[in-house]
Amino acid sequence: MRPKYLPYLSKSKFIEGMKCLKLLWYEYHRKDEIPKFDILRRSVMDMGTKVGELARTLFPDGVKLERMRVPADHAAQSREALSLRKPLFEAGFIYKRVYALADILVPAGADEWDLVEVKSSTGVKEYHKWDLAFQKYTYEGAGLNIRKCYIMHINNRYVKNGDIVPRDLFSKKEVTEEVDELIPDVVKKISGMVRIVDSNNMPDVKIGQYCRTPYPCVLEGICWDFLPEKDHVFLLHGRKKIAFDLMEQGILKMEDIPEGCKLTGIQDIQVKSHKNQEPHVDKAGVRKFIDKLKYPLHFLDFETIAPAVPVYDLTRPFENVPFQYSLYIVEKDGARPRHHSYLAPERNDPRPEILKQLERFLGDSGSILAYNASFEIQTLHAAIIANSQYGGWFRKIKERFVDLHEPFRQFSYYHPRQKGSGSIKDVLPAMTGSGYEGMEIAEGGIASYEYYRVTFGDSVDEDERRRVRLALEKYCDLDTKGMIGILYALMKDCYCK
Ligand code: SF4
Repeated sequence: MRPKYLPYLSKSKFIEGMKCLKLLWYEYHRKDEIPKFDILRRSVMDMGTKVGELARTLFPDGVKLERMRVPADHAAQSREALSLRKPLFEAGFIYKRVYALADILVPAGADEWDLVEVKSSTGVKEYHKWDLAFQKYTYEGAGLNIRKCYIMHINNRYVKNGDIVPRDLFSKKEVTEEVDELIPDVVKKISGMVRIVDSNNMPDVKIGQYCRTPYPCVLEGICWDFLPEKDHVFLLHGRKKIAFDLMEQGILKMEDIPEGCKLTGIQDIQVKSHKNQEPHVDKAGVRKFIDKLKYPLHFLDFETIAPAVPVYDLTRPFENVPFQYSLYIVEKDGARPRHHSYLAPERNDPRPEILKQLERFLGDSGSILAYNASFEIQTLHAAIIANSQYGGWFRKIKERFVDLHEPFRQFSYYHPRQKGSGSIKDVLPAMTGSGYEGMEIAEGGIASYEYYRVTFGDSVDEDERRRVRLALEKYCDLDTKGMIGILYALMKDCYCK
């Protein structure tokens, strides 16, 4: 059915259309079928909102325009506000079939305006310029004189020390020339997109690399649904070109990949393992890994937050700051694991307490196992910069870290139930039969979002806070307990069979 009125193409839809015309078509014709925002995307949006609010404080005489449901009403209100000659937040204008809202429109000279787009990234990305080109085209079409275009982004060299200083937190880069160069292409793209918006026929777009880069498309669950549930060719490790080539030949399952197909060594391991439905175990490789471990074994995991706007003194934007750890210690072969953990209770900087406890519990000897150990090492390293008294200790324990991900990254071990993934979330259930299903928090990004929400949010009641903290304890505990399960399963496979 054709829509009853001709809708406008907004900036966000234009950016979606740049990614994929099918996605754009869904926005206008099957909106109800687009999955709702998940918690991780909501966290990115919340962060964007916070960054936007802070950026506005740099324009103290600015006027925020109320969002109106009908674009024409909002545009009329914005046009009226132009005469104030003050910075305007979220002023919106219409030109032909496009509608754009600027983050900040700043008066320049007698009758010109500068466009400022605020981004919660640490630099200028290519799509930011397209974003601005779309706006400049719209505003100029609507009769405004746009003088310059800027991207205001987070300065990743900023270090919090007391209250946030917005003028130091943000960097501003002029991109007027680059934006002007894009405008002719923007005009062409807009006319192509408007045709898609107005058509009742869904564009025939095949899946491609663009579905997952630079960020995963919300429609993956729909467009990729034709693939077999498990063992499909897109589970092949490494670059996906081979999978697309196989798909073109009508080969969707690993078991249908013919002998002689040009695969990498790792892909060959995968295909054989999936065809036999048997794990691949390079016993020599796994033993080499196990033999370097020294008791007592320490299984360590951090959960961290990395807000764009730092919340603790002596941290930078997006710095990973640990708020929780879980540590299991196995003193000797066959000993019962001993557990220590910490979950920061309040808004205070958690690093001094975590470092104090870890210095005590990690002792002077034995391996420290972490899954993707470089993350734990980097997190500790960043924490030490602000707590330099632990520098000597850190240099010593750094040498004791062993990455439990190593045998899986190198495919010394691969189980077809891992479905091509070396993540602990897939390795643990594949090797031990139990995993993260049914857990309220089952992913590091969600742990981070939830901790931030219940610790720094203003409208969270005590019951909710307690419930989330309990879920966090369970999640971090399983990440470390899971490492023990994985190591024991590796030992069993390599020494007992
Ligand atoms: S999943 Fe891929 S093909 Fe489908 S709408 Fe998204 S980008 Fe387009």
